[in-house]
Amino acid sequence: MTWNVAAGPISTVIRGATLLPLVESARALSGDLVISGSRITHVGPNAAIPPGADVLERRGHYVMPGLIQTHLHLVQTIFRGLAEDLTLLDWLRRRIWPLEAAHDADSVRASVRLGLVEVLGTGTTTIVDMGTTKHGDVVGEELVRSGIRALFGQAMMDTGEGAPPELLETTRASLDASAALHKRWHKSGNGRIQYAYSPRFALSCTRELLEAVGTLAKMNDVAIHTHTNEDPAERAAIQAATGRAPITYLAEMGIASERTVAAHGVHVDDAELATLRETRTAITHCPTSNLKLGAGIADVVRLRGSRVTVGLGADGAACNNRLDGFEEARIASLLARSLHGQRALTASDALLMATRDGARALHLDEELGTLEPGKRADLIVLDAGRLAGPMGDPATRILFGGGGRAVRDVFVDGVGIVRDGTVRTIDAAEARAKAFEATTALMQRASLA
Ligand SMILES: [Zn+2]
Repeated sequence: MTWNVAAGPISTVIRGATLLPLVESARALSGDLVISGSRITHVGPNAAIPPGADVLERRGHYVMPGLIQTHLHLVQTIFRGLAEDLTLLDWLRRRIWPLEAAHDADSVRASVRLGLVEVLGTGTTTIVDMGTTKHGDVVGEELVRSGIRALFGQAMMDTGEGAPPELLETTRASLDASAALHKRWHKSGNGRIQYAYSPRFALSCTRELLEAVGTLAKMNDVAIHTHTNEDPAERAAIQAATGRAPITYLAEMGIASERTVAAHGVHVDDAELATLRETRTAITHCPTSNLKLGAGIADVVRLRGSRVTVGLGADGAACNNRLDGFEEARIASLLARSLHGQRALTASDALLMATRDGARALHLDEELGTLEPGKRADLIVLDAGRLAGPMGDPATRILFGGGGRAVRDVFVDGVGIVRDGTVRTIDAAEARAKAFEATTALMQRASLA
Protein backbone atom coordinates (compact mmCIF):
# COMPACT_ATOMS: atom_id res chain seq x y z
CA MET A 1 0.00 0.00 0.00
CA THR A 2 1.54 3.29 -1.04
CA TRP A 3 0.96 6.58 0.59
CA ASN A 4 -1.66 9.03 -0.62
CA VAL A 5 -0.51 12.54 -1.55
CA ALA A 6 -3.55 14.10 0.09
CA ALA A 7 -2.41 12.84 3.52
CA GLY A 8 0.37 15.39 4.12
CA PRO A 9 0.59 17.39 7.39
CA ILE A 10 -0.48 21.03 7.64
CA SER A 11 2.98 22.30 8.64
CA THR A 12 6.53 20.99 8.48
CA VAL A 13 9.66 22.46 10.04
CA ILE A 14 13.05 21.40 8.66
CA ARG A 15 15.41 22.26 11.48
CA GLY A 16 19.13 22.94 11.73
CA ALA A 17 20.08 22.50 8.07
CA THR A 18 22.23 24.60 5.75
CA LEU A 19 19.82 26.39 3.41
CA LEU A 20 20.59 27.25 -0.21
CA PRO A 21 17.78 29.57 -1.36
CA LEU A 22 19.36 29.85 -4.88
CA VAL A 23 17.82 33.24 -5.51
CA GLU A 24 20.79 34.96 -7.20
CA SER A 25 23.69 32.76 -6.09
CA ALA A 26 24.43 29.62 -4.12
CA ARG A 27 25.09 31.62 -0.94
CA ALA A 28 24.16 29.44 2.03
CA LEU A 29 22.70 30.29 5.42
CA SER A 30 22.05 28.25 8.55
CA GLY A 31 18.64 27.92 10.06
CA ASP A 32 15.23 26.42 9.65
CA LEU A 33 12.70 26.23 6.88
CA VAL A 34 8.99 26.27 7.68
CA ILE A 35 6.28 24.97 5.37
CA SER A 36 2.65 25.87 6.05
CA GLY A 37 0.22 24.12 3.77
CA SER A 38 1.68 24.23 0.29
CA ARG A 39 3.89 27.31 0.87
CA ILE A 40 7.24 28.20 2.38
CA THR A 41 6.64 30.62 5.24
CA HIS A 42 10.10 31.01 6.78
CA VAL A 43 13.71 30.62 5.60
CA GLY A 44 16.51 31.30 8.12
CA PRO A 45 17.24 31.51 11.83
CA ASN A 46 14.74 31.68 14.68
CA ALA A 47 11.73 29.94 13.25
CA ALA A 48 8.59 29.80 15.37
CA ILE A 49 7.30 26.22 15.33
CA PRO A 50 3.62 26.14 14.35
CA PRO A 51 1.48 24.01 16.67
CA GLY A 52 1.13 20.43 15.46
CA ALA A 53 4.00 20.81 12.98
CA ASP A 54 5.96 17.82 11.77
CA VAL A 55 9.54 18.66 12.86
CA LEU A 56 12.41 17.13 10.90
CA GLU A 57 15.85 17.44 12.53
CA ARG A 58 18.22 17.86 9.60
CA ARG A 59 21.57 18.97 10.99
CA GLY A 60 24.33 18.07 8.50
CA HIS A 61 21.94 18.42 5.58
CA TYR A 62 21.46 20.88 2.74
CA VAL A 63 18.03 22.20 1.78
CA MET A 64 17.55 23.61 -1.72
CA PRO A 65 14.78 24.08 -4.27
CA GLY A 66 13.71 20.90 -6.05
CA LEU A 67 15.20 20.40 -9.50
CA ILE A 68 13.12 21.31 -12.54
CA GLN A 69 13.74 19.13 -15.58
CA THR A 70 12.25 20.83 -18.61
CA HIS A 71 12.56 17.87 -21.00
CA LEU A 72 11.84 14.20 -20.32
CA HIS A 73 10.25 11.16 -21.94
CA LEU A 74 8.96 8.93 -19.14
CA VAL A 75 7.45 6.52 -21.69
CA GLN A 76 11.02 5.67 -22.73
CA THR A 77 12.24 4.62 -19.30
CA ILE A 78 11.76 0.94 -20.09
CA PHE A 79 13.63 1.34 -23.41
CA ARG A 80 16.87 1.80 -21.45
CA GLY A 81 19.66 -0.17 -23.08
CA LEU A 82 17.53 -1.08 -26.11
CA ALA A 83 18.66 1.75 -28.41
CA GLU A 84 22.42 1.98 -28.13
CA ASP A 85 25.12 3.33 -30.44
CA LEU A 86 22.86 5.02 -32.98
CA THR A 87 22.65 8.63 -34.16
CA LEU A 88 19.40 10.54 -33.75
CA LEU A 89 17.41 9.69 -36.90
CA ASP A 90 18.43 5.99 -36.87
CA TRP A 91 17.84 5.89 -33.14
CA LEU A 92 14.28 7.12 -33.72
CA ARG A 93 13.48 5.10 -36.85
CA ARG A 94 15.10 1.78 -35.95
CA ARG A 95 14.42 1.65 -32.22
CA ILE A 96 12.42 4.38 -30.48
CA TRP A 97 9.47 4.67 -32.85
CA PRO A 98 8.99 0.88 -33.21
CA LEU A 99 9.17 0.57 -29.42
CA GLU A 100 6.71 3.43 -28.88
CA ALA A 101 4.40 1.86 -31.50
CA ALA A 102 4.49 -1.40 -29.49
CA HIS A 103 3.54 0.35 -26.22
CA ASP A 104 0.19 -0.58 -24.64
CA ALA A 105 -1.46 1.06 -21.64
CA ASP A 106 0.25 -1.33 -19.19
CA SER A 107 3.74 -0.78 -20.56
CA VAL A 108 3.26 3.01 -20.62
CA ARG A 109 2.13 2.88 -16.99
CA ALA A 110 5.09 0.71 -15.96
CA SER A 111 7.56 2.97 -17.79
CA VAL A 112 6.16 6.20 -16.36
CA ARG A 113 6.08 4.79 -12.82
CA LEU A 114 9.68 3.60 -12.94
CA GLY A 115 10.76 6.94 -14.40
CA LEU A 116 8.97 8.81 -11.63
CA VAL A 117 10.70 6.73 -8.94
CA GLU A 118 14.05 7.69 -10.43
CA VAL A 119 13.22 11.35 -11.03
CA LEU A 120 11.69 11.96 -7.59
CA GLY A 121 14.32 9.88 -5.83
CA THR A 122 17.12 12.03 -7.27
CA GLY A 123 15.52 15.32 -6.28
CA THR A 124 13.45 16.54 -9.23
CA THR A 125 10.12 18.11 -8.26
CA THR A 126 8.90 19.49 -11.62
CA ILE A 127 9.12 17.90 -15.05
CA VAL A 128 8.10 18.65 -18.61
CA ASP A 129 7.26 15.33 -20.20
CA MET A 130 6.54 14.24 -23.75
CA GLY A 131 4.60 11.00 -24.00
CA THR A 132 3.98 8.97 -27.10
CA THR A 133 1.08 9.36 -29.57
CA LYS A 134 -1.25 7.21 -27.44
CA HIS A 135 -2.17 6.56 -23.80
CA GLY A 136 -1.92 10.18 -22.67
CA ASP A 137 -4.54 9.49 -19.99
CA VAL A 138 -2.29 6.85 -18.43
CA VAL A 139 0.55 9.37 -18.20
CA GLY A 140 -1.81 11.93 -16.65
CA GLU A 141 -3.07 9.42 -14.07
CA GLU A 142 0.43 8.43 -12.99
CA LEU A 143 1.66 12.02 -12.77
CA VAL A 144 -1.26 12.99 -10.53
CA ARG A 145 -0.87 9.91 -8.34
CA SER A 146 2.88 10.43 -7.87
CA GLY A 147 2.49 13.93 -6.43
CA ILE A 148 5.08 15.45 -8.78
CA ARG A 149 4.53 18.79 -10.52
CA ALA A 150 4.42 18.42 -14.30
CA LEU A 151 3.67 19.88 -17.67
CA PHE A 152 2.88 17.00 -19.97
CA GLY A 153 1.53 16.33 -23.41
CA GLN A 154 0.84 13.47 -25.74
CA ALA A 155 3.40 13.52 -28.57
CA MET A 156 1.93 14.68 -31.89
CA MET A 157 3.06 12.98 -35.14
CA ASP A 158 1.05 13.17 -38.35
CA THR A 159 3.91 12.47 -40.80
CA GLY A 160 7.51 11.30 -40.77
CA GLU A 161 9.83 9.19 -42.88
CA GLY A 162 10.44 5.86 -41.17
CA ALA A 163 7.65 6.25 -38.59
CA PRO A 164 5.59 3.06 -38.11
CA PRO A 165 1.96 3.48 -39.26
CA GLU A 166 0.70 2.47 -35.76
CA LEU A 167 2.41 5.54 -34.34
CA LEU A 168 1.13 8.05 -36.90
CA GLU A 169 -2.15 9.88 -36.52
CA THR A 170 -4.15 12.03 -38.87
CA THR A 171 -3.79 15.76 -38.29
CA ARG A 172 -7.39 15.96 -37.07
CA ALA A 173 -7.06 12.98 -34.71
CA SER A 174 -3.86 14.38 -33.24
CA LEU A 175 -5.45 17.78 -32.55
CA ASP A 176 -8.62 16.21 -31.15
CA ALA A 177 -6.63 13.95 -28.83
CA SER A 178 -4.63 16.88 -27.47
CA ALA A 179 -7.79 18.97 -27.03
CA ALA A 180 -9.45 16.15 -25.05
CA LEU A 181 -6.36 15.60 -22.87
CA HIS A 182 -6.06 19.34 -22.27
CA LYS A 183 -9.67 19.42 -21.11
CA ARG A 184 -9.20 16.44 -18.78
CA TRP A 185 -5.79 17.14 -17.28
CA HIS A 186 -4.98 20.86 -17.43
CA LYS A 187 -4.80 22.18 -13.84
CA SER A 188 -5.55 18.74 -12.38
CA GLY A 189 -3.83 17.34 -9.27
CA ASN A 190 -4.64 20.47 -7.22
CA GLY A 191 -3.19 22.57 -10.03
CA ARG A 192 0.15 20.70 -10.11
CA ILE A 193 -0.45 19.39 -13.63
CA GLN A 194 -0.55 21.50 -16.78
CA TYR A 195 -1.17 20.28 -20.27
CA ALA A 196 1.41 21.19 -22.95
CA TYR A 197 0.87 20.75 -26.69
CA SER A 198 3.72 18.49 -27.77
CA PRO A 199 4.41 18.44 -31.52
CA ARG A 200 7.34 16.03 -31.55
CA PHE A 201 9.59 17.87 -34.04
CA ALA A 202 9.39 19.51 -37.46
CA LEU A 203 10.05 16.25 -39.34
CA SER A 204 7.15 14.39 -37.72
CA CYS A 205 4.52 17.12 -37.99
CA THR A 206 2.88 18.62 -41.06
CA ARG A 207 2.83 22.36 -41.56
CA GLU A 208 -0.94 22.20 -41.02
CA LEU A 209 -0.52 20.54 -37.63
CA LEU A 210 2.18 22.97 -36.47
CA GLU A 211 0.15 26.01 -37.49
CA ALA A 212 -2.93 24.68 -35.71
CA VAL A 213 -0.90 24.01 -32.54
CA GLY A 214 0.60 27.50 -32.66
CA THR A 215 -2.88 29.04 -32.91
CA LEU A 216 -4.54 26.80 -30.30
CA ALA A 217 -1.76 27.17 -27.76
CA LYS A 218 -1.97 30.96 -28.03
CA MET A 219 -5.76 30.97 -27.88
CA ASN A 220 -5.90 28.70 -24.83
CA ASP A 221 -2.71 30.06 -23.20
CA VAL A 222 -1.14 26.62 -23.06
CA ALA A 223 2.55 25.69 -23.19
CA ILE A 224 4.22 24.06 -26.21
CA HIS A 225 6.89 21.39 -25.80
CA THR A 226 8.97 20.29 -28.78
CA HIS A 227 12.45 19.32 -30.00
CA THR A 228 14.62 21.30 -32.39
CA ASN A 229 18.17 21.83 -33.71
CA GLU A 230 19.41 18.65 -32.10
CA ASP A 231 21.61 16.96 -34.67
CA PRO A 232 23.30 17.98 -37.96
CA ALA A 233 21.33 15.44 -40.06
CA GLU A 234 18.01 16.49 -38.51
CA ARG A 235 18.86 20.15 -39.09
CA ALA A 236 19.75 19.46 -42.73
CA ALA A 237 16.56 17.42 -43.27
CA ILE A 238 14.36 20.23 -41.88
CA GLN A 239 16.18 22.76 -44.04
CA ALA A 240 15.67 20.54 -47.12
CA ALA A 241 11.99 19.92 -46.37
CA THR A 242 11.00 23.47 -45.47
CA GLY A 243 13.60 25.70 -47.12
CA ARG A 244 14.14 27.33 -43.74
CA ALA A 245 16.47 26.98 -40.78
CA PRO A 246 14.56 24.97 -38.14
CA ILE A 247 13.94 27.78 -35.64
CA THR A 248 12.98 30.19 -38.44
CA TYR A 249 10.45 27.61 -39.61
CA LEU A 250 9.06 27.03 -36.10
CA ALA A 251 8.70 30.78 -35.60
CA GLU A 252 6.74 31.04 -38.86
CA MET A 253 4.45 28.24 -37.66
CA GLY A 254 3.82 30.01 -34.35
CA ILE A 255 5.63 27.21 -32.52
CA ALA A 256 8.69 29.19 -31.41
CA SER A 257 7.04 31.48 -28.87
CA GLU A 258 7.14 32.69 -25.28
CA ARG A 259 5.04 29.70 -24.26
CA THR A 260 7.47 27.21 -25.83
CA VAL A 261 10.13 25.00 -24.33
CA ALA A 262 12.24 23.41 -27.08
CA ALA A 263 14.68 20.65 -26.26
CA HIS A 264 18.30 20.80 -27.45
CA GLY A 265 19.24 23.93 -29.46
CA VAL A 266 22.61 22.36 -30.25
CA HIS A 267 23.10 23.64 -33.82
CA VAL A 268 21.73 27.19 -33.88
CA ASP A 269 22.95 29.86 -36.31
CA ASP A 270 23.10 33.57 -35.48
CA ALA A 271 19.77 34.42 -37.14
CA GLU A 272 18.06 31.59 -35.23
CA LEU A 273 19.65 32.76 -32.00
CA ALA A 274 18.10 36.19 -32.59
CA THR A 275 14.72 34.53 -33.27
CA LEU A 276 14.94 32.56 -30.02
CA ARG A 277 15.59 35.79 -28.14
CA GLU A 278 12.88 37.78 -29.95
CA THR A 279 10.21 35.09 -29.61
CA ARG A 280 11.31 34.37 -26.01
CA THR A 281 11.47 30.65 -26.75
CA ALA A 282 13.13 28.71 -23.92
CA ILE A 283 15.64 25.95 -24.60
CA THR A 284 16.22 22.78 -22.60
CA HIS A 285 19.86 21.75 -22.50
CA CYS A 286 20.16 17.94 -22.47
CA PRO A 287 23.93 17.46 -22.32
CA THR A 288 24.12 13.72 -21.66
CA SER A 289 21.63 12.89 -24.40
CA ASN A 290 23.50 15.12 -26.88
CA LEU A 291 26.85 13.56 -26.01
CA LYS A 292 25.58 9.98 -26.05
CA LEU A 293 23.77 10.30 -29.40
CA GLY A 294 26.84 12.11 -30.73
CA ALA A 295 24.62 15.07 -31.65
CA GLY A 296 27.06 17.77 -30.58
CA ILE A 297 27.41 20.24 -27.71
CA ALA A 298 24.90 23.02 -27.13
CA ASP A 299 26.67 26.27 -26.34
CA VAL A 300 24.65 27.35 -23.32
CA VAL A 301 26.98 30.26 -22.59
CA ARG A 302 26.15 31.69 -26.04
CA LEU A 303 22.42 31.07 -25.52
CA ARG A 304 22.39 32.61 -22.05
CA GLY A 305 24.56 35.49 -23.28
CA SER A 306 21.82 36.23 -25.81
CA ARG A 307 19.22 36.29 -23.01
CA VAL A 308 17.67 32.96 -23.98
CA THR A 309 16.30 31.12 -20.93
CA VAL A 310 17.93 27.69 -20.64
CA GLY A 311 16.67 24.85 -18.45
CA LEU A 312 18.06 21.34 -18.06
CA GLY A 313 16.69 17.89 -18.78
CA ALA A 314 17.83 14.27 -18.84
CA ASP A 315 15.75 13.66 -22.02
CA GLY A 316 15.02 9.93 -21.60
CA ALA A 317 16.48 6.69 -20.32
CA ALA A 318 16.76 5.46 -23.92
CA CYS A 319 19.51 8.02 -24.63
CA ASN A 320 20.96 9.01 -21.26
CA ASN A 321 20.52 6.33 -19.61
CA ARG A 322 19.74 7.95 -16.26
CA LEU A 323 17.18 10.54 -15.17
CA ASP A 324 19.24 12.31 -12.49
CA GLY A 325 18.98 16.11 -12.91
CA PHE A 326 22.13 16.70 -10.82
CA GLU A 327 24.13 14.76 -13.41
CA GLU A 328 22.82 17.01 -16.18
CA ALA A 329 23.78 20.11 -14.21
CA ARG A 330 27.24 18.68 -13.56
CA ILE A 331 27.88 17.84 -17.21
CA ALA A 332 26.51 21.22 -18.31
CA SER A 333 29.11 22.91 -16.12
CA LEU A 334 31.93 20.69 -17.42
CA LEU A 335 31.02 21.27 -21.08
CA ALA A 336 30.70 25.04 -20.66
CA ARG A 337 34.15 25.13 -19.01
CA SER A 338 35.65 23.14 -21.85
CA LEU A 339 34.20 25.60 -24.39
CA HIS A 340 34.67 28.89 -22.57
CA GLY A 341 36.98 28.50 -19.59
CA GLN A 342 36.69 28.22 -15.85
CA ARG A 343 34.11 30.87 -14.92
CA ALA A 344 31.76 30.00 -17.80
CA LEU A 345 29.22 28.00 -15.78
CA THR A 346 30.22 27.62 -12.15
CA ALA A 347 28.73 25.08 -9.74
CA SER A 348 26.47 27.84 -8.47
CA ASP A 349 25.38 28.77 -12.03
CA ALA A 350 24.63 25.13 -12.86
CA LEU A 351 22.45 24.69 -9.76
CA LEU A 352 20.62 27.94 -10.57
CA MET A 353 20.02 26.63 -14.09
CA ALA A 354 18.57 23.40 -12.72
CA THR A 355 16.14 25.26 -10.43
CA ARG A 356 15.41 28.96 -10.89
CA ASP A 357 16.02 29.04 -14.64
CA GLY A 358 13.82 25.97 -15.19
CA ALA A 359 11.02 27.81 -13.39
CA ARG A 360 11.61 30.84 -15.62
CA ALA A 361 11.43 28.66 -18.74
CA LEU A 362 7.96 27.53 -17.62
CA HIS A 363 6.84 31.01 -16.44
CA LEU A 364 6.45 29.51 -12.98
CA ASP A 365 9.22 31.60 -11.39
CA GLU A 366 6.84 33.61 -9.23
CA GLU A 367 5.74 30.31 -7.66
CA LEU A 368 8.77 28.00 -7.82
CA GLY A 369 12.48 27.65 -8.26
CA THR A 370 13.90 29.31 -5.12
CA LEU A 371 13.48 29.02 -1.35
CA GLU A 372 11.64 32.19 -0.42
CA PRO A 373 8.69 32.84 1.88
CA GLY A 374 5.48 32.82 -0.14
CA LYS A 375 6.73 30.40 -2.77
CA ARG A 376 5.39 26.91 -3.18
CA ALA A 377 7.20 24.37 -1.00
CA ASP A 378 8.86 22.37 -3.77
CA LEU A 379 12.18 21.57 -2.16
CA ILE A 380 14.68 18.85 -1.36
CA VAL A 381 16.87 17.84 1.58
CA LEU A 382 20.30 16.36 0.87
CA ASP A 383 22.32 14.38 3.40
CA ALA A 384 25.77 16.00 3.25
CA GLY A 385 27.30 12.82 4.64
CA ARG A 386 26.42 11.03 1.41
CA LEU A 387 28.20 13.56 -0.81
CA ALA A 388 31.85 13.24 -1.75
CA GLY A 389 33.49 15.61 0.68
CA PRO A 390 33.64 17.01 3.26
CA MET A 391 35.57 20.02 1.91
CA GLY A 392 34.34 22.69 -0.51
CA ASP A 393 31.49 25.15 -0.66
CA PRO A 394 27.96 23.67 -0.66
CA ALA A 395 27.30 24.20 -4.39
CA THR A 396 30.56 22.48 -5.35
CA ARG A 397 29.95 19.59 -2.97
CA ILE A 398 26.41 19.08 -4.24
CA LEU A 399 27.20 19.44 -7.95
CA PHE A 400 30.44 17.49 -8.11
CA GLY A 401 29.86 15.25 -5.09
CA GLY A 402 26.83 13.38 -6.44
CA GLY A 403 23.79 15.42 -5.35
CA GLY A 404 21.29 12.87 -6.67
CA ARG A 405 22.48 10.07 -4.40
CA ALA A 406 22.28 12.30 -1.30
CA VAL A 407 18.55 13.07 -1.62
CA ARG A 408 16.79 12.26 1.64
CA ASP A 409 13.49 14.17 1.53
CA VAL A 410 11.50 15.67 -1.35
CA PHE A 411 8.53 18.02 -0.94
CA VAL A 412 6.12 19.13 -3.64
CA ASP A 413 3.47 21.68 -2.66
CA GLY A 414 4.50 21.08 0.96
CA VAL A 415 3.81 17.35 0.80
CA GLY A 416 6.66 14.96 1.63
CA ILE A 417 6.72 12.74 -1.47
CA VAL A 418 10.11 11.24 -0.55
CA ARG A 419 11.02 10.64 3.11
CA ASP A 420 14.32 9.16 4.27
CA GLY A 421 15.21 8.24 0.69
CA THR A 422 11.99 6.33 0.02
CA VAL A 423 9.43 7.47 -2.53
CA ARG A 424 6.14 7.22 -0.63
CA THR A 425 3.67 7.48 -3.48
CA ILE A 426 5.10 4.65 -5.61
CA ASP A 427 6.35 1.26 -4.44
CA ALA A 428 9.84 1.29 -6.00
CA ALA A 429 10.43 -2.48 -5.85
CA GLU A 430 7.07 -3.18 -7.44
CA ALA A 431 7.71 -0.50 -10.09
CA ARG A 432 11.03 -2.17 -11.00
CA ALA A 433 9.46 -5.64 -11.19
CA LYS A 434 6.54 -4.42 -13.31
CA ALA A 435 8.89 -2.50 -15.60
CA PHE A 436 10.95 -5.64 -16.20
CA GLU A 437 7.83 -7.67 -17.06
CA ALA A 438 6.51 -4.91 -19.30
CA THR A 439 9.82 -4.57 -21.15
CA THR A 440 9.96 -8.29 -21.92
CA ALA A 441 6.44 -8.23 -23.38
CA LEU A 442 7.10 -4.98 -25.24
CA MET A 443 10.23 -6.36 -26.91
CA GLN A 444 8.22 -9.33 -28.16
CA ARG A 445 5.51 -7.06 -29.54
CA ALA A 446 8.17 -4.90 -31.22
CA SER A 447 9.89 -8.06 -32.53
CA LEU A 448 13.11 -7.09 -30.72
CA ALA A 449 13.23 -10.07 -28.33
ZN1 LIG B 1 13.59 14.29 -26.25
